[in-house]
Amino acid sequence: MTNPDPPFTPEHEELRSSIRGFIDRELAPHSQQWEDERWFPDEVFGKLAAQGLLGLKYPTELGGQGGDYLHEAVMCEEMARIGSGGTAAGIGAHVNIATPPIWRFGTEEQQQSYLVPAIRGEKIGALGITEPGAGSDVAGLRTSAERVDGGWVLNGEKTYITNGVRAHFIVTAAKTTPEGGHQGISFFIVDRSEGIESAKLEKLGWHASDTATIAYQDVFVGENRLLGELHGGFKLIMANFQWERLAMSLGAVGAMRLAWERTAQFARERETFGRPLSGHQVIRHKLADLAASAYQARCVTYDALRRFVAGEEPLREVTMAKLLTQRACFELMDACLQIHGGAGYMREVWVERAARDSRLGPIGGGSDEIMREILGRVLGL
Ligand SMILES: Cc1cc2nc3c(=O)[nH]c(=O)nc-3n(C[C@H](O)[C@H](O)[C@H](O)COP(=O)(O)OP(=O)(O)OC[C@H]3O[C@@H](n4cnc5c(N)ncnc54)[C@H](O)[C@@H]3O)c2cc1C
Repeated sequence: MTNPDPPFTPEHEELRSSIRGFIDRELAPHSQQWEDERWFPDEVFGKLAAQGLLGLKYPTELGGQGGDYLHEAVMCEEMARIGSGGTAAGIGAHVNIATPPIWRFGTEEQQQSYLVPAIRGEKIGALGITEPGAGSDVAGLRTSAERVDGGWVLNGEKTYITNGVRAHFIVTAAKTTPEGGHQGISFFIVDRSEGIESAKLEKLGWHASDTATIAYQDVFVGENRLLGELHGGFKLIMANFQWERLAMSLGAVGAMRLAWERTAQFARERETFGRPLSGHQVIRHKLADLAASAYQARCVTYDALRRFVAGEEPLREVTMAKLLTQRACFELMDACLQIHGGAGYMREVWVERAARDSRLGPIGGGSDEIMREILGRVLGL
């Protein structure tokens, strides 16, 4: 085994080959079927849990593996091998955006009721922030939580929520003052219950995932379902944004590497005009550019990751990594599709799906434009 690139160590590489083996054996063979069915089975969470893959970064007392974000990072990279962005997204939403706030801000009782079963794959989570009228501008969300005897009553609508149909609980942002905004948003752990209606949306890619609208109509949640501080929701959103964006960057790094390897192999084998595609300089140079792009994505992401796990607050580096990797990944997929010619446009060839799936990157988890806005602020512009 060659020396792993820092911050990874040989221990992480062992984990990588075990995750890879599991994905190649248990998940990848079904990806086409799940994409066609527009759904991957809930049992996938149980299978992942049995391998310890839903709790890599969580403490053993809660049923986790006692690892850290670096172990999770390996998983984020390897998920590209599933070959279904939708399946990876459903798993990623559970592991990287729905459960971390419960770990960081949940009470002991909330952790026992939600995080422990989530790590066991018995309860599936979703994070509900985006609304029809509020995406990038999170402060504009309108879902309200009104105080009543013994708890809160939620009304409103969320949209584009990953795991929005299958989730047993939705970590939901709602305004807890009439004005809402930065000082008036709180989070609640909302069980799927009476008054909640979800509807799956059709989309360009990520077909196997249930991206959904969720309507809350007079949904009662008890006092003990407030997550974190009252009116402190913005802090909670910000706390996990860095990890969410790193996770997406790592996903792009894994996807780019895999796509390049497969496309280079194809270019070595496919012959036109009496020689392999890679024998044509224009294709060879394209592949060289793509290798450089994949390497650049890896370097900026690993640098941000290294700072993140060292306890820095690398807002600038994480934002740059998210911005530099997501469109680069889509562009690389598009170039790989082109190198595949007509085959690249065919449903049964991996790159057709990979190209569609990668289009979400520059939009989700904070769009490219929002990354530039953040960078503008950080850079004092
Ligand atoms: C498949 C999928 C899964 C998702 N999963 C989840 C989930 O699990 N949970 C969740 O809460 N959300 C989820 N989202 C929502 C996602 O985070 C939002 O779509 C994203 O933040 C953008 O918000 P928006 O769609 O409302 O676009 P808008 O905010 O309306 O933006 C529209 C366009 O304008 C640009 N723009 C906005 N403001 C500015 C500005 N100030 N300057 C310049 N340009 C600007 C944006 O970059 C974008 O290009 C998901 C979305 C998708 C598509």
